[in-house]
Amino acid sequence: MASCVDCSDVLVHDEPLGPLTTLGIGGPARLFYAPSTVDELAAVLAELDARGERVRFLGNGSNLLVDDEGVDGAVVSFRRLRFVRPDRDRAGVFDVGAGALVPGLITRTARSGFAGMERLVGIPGSIGGSLFQNAGGKDGSMADIVEGATLVTRSGRTVFRRQDELGLGYRKSALGGAAVASVRLRLTPDDPRAVVERARALMVYRKRTQPLQDRSPGCIFVNPHGERSASWLLERAGVKGLRHGRASFSEKHSNFIINEGGATAHDVRVLIREARDRVFDRFHQHLRLEITEWTAGRPIG
Ligand SMILES: Cc1cc2nc3c(=O)[nH]c(=O)nc-3n(C[C@H](O)[C@H](O)[C@H](O)COP(=O)(O)OP(=O)(O)OC[C@H]3O[C@@H](n4cnc5c(N)ncnc54)[C@H](O)[C@@H]3O)c2cc1C
Repeated sequence: MASCVDCSDVLVHDEPLGPLTTLGIGGPARLFYAPSTVDELAAVLAELDARGERVRFLGNGSNLLVDDEGVDGAVVSFRRLRFVRPDRDRAGVFDVGAGALVPGLITRTARSGFAGMERLVGIPGSIGGSLFQNAGGKDGSMADIVEGATLVTRSGRTVFRRQDELGLGYRKSALGGAAVASVRLRLTPDDPRAVVERARALMVYRKRTQPLQDRSPGCIFVNPHGERSASWLLERAGVKGLRHGRASFSEKHSNFIINEGGATAHDVRVLIREARDRVFDRFHQHLRLEITEWTAGRPIG
């Protein structure tokens, strides 16, 4: 197992998290690590485990609600783990560092003549966070293009897991608390122009239906079982445009909460509770959060 004494060269104290999230809300992390190799990541996790620190993983912060007071314990960021390594023997197979961003990967793989990533158009996450969430939409999800992943366990052990061992389901995975260090993608050779064109068409649709220019964490709630989507229920429950402080439900897509500038985590929570209550009162359905909450207090859940 790798060791890094106290890992101080990859450690920052009291790093503000708000600017590292797409919602732009949140106080500092007491300890913030940004390892730049998988070995460093393993060493950091081993050390934090030995010290009994609580650890949270940060990708591109595009599905997160962080408390205004920030979080105690350690945050491990993947922003320096952005390698992309094509397999020399198998066309379309790439090992990608967990911090590599989905939009850049879509452009790069499409232009090189590989199809598959374009189903994630409009998703601003890292590839590691996207595997954790099994991100996707109506055109498919990460599960369709992943051959496996290298994980680092909380005690710092590095293991490779095949796709069918990752527990991927609708917006979820089962990684046993491990970090995703890298993802092995398996894409399909295709005409670059056709892939780029498909990606462009999907982006046009996204821009028309989602508030992509605004600060948000994407969809707040997952779609419940059954025919009605979360946004259908929210719209009928009258939450579109609902506002608290400087946060509001988007006029364009009723499952998005927007930071209009200066919103707090408290503002967002008030809106989440109000929306849930309204949907429950009208449809007797409980909406489950899609976003991850980082809170020192009691989570909304
Ligand atoms: C405008 C907009 C549109 C969006 N559209 C979609 C969409 O269509 N479909 C969709 O599924 N999502 C969508 N999202 C949500 C979000 O982009 C995805 O969930 C994305 O995959 C999250 O990746 P991230 O790197 O930003 O993760 P983060 O927000 O940083 O983290 C999310 C969760 O993943 C965990 N995590 C992050 N990195 C790792 C890692 N390396 N190892 C282990 N755990 C990790 C975190 O601890 C956290 O629990 C959208 C978001 C926005 C802002």
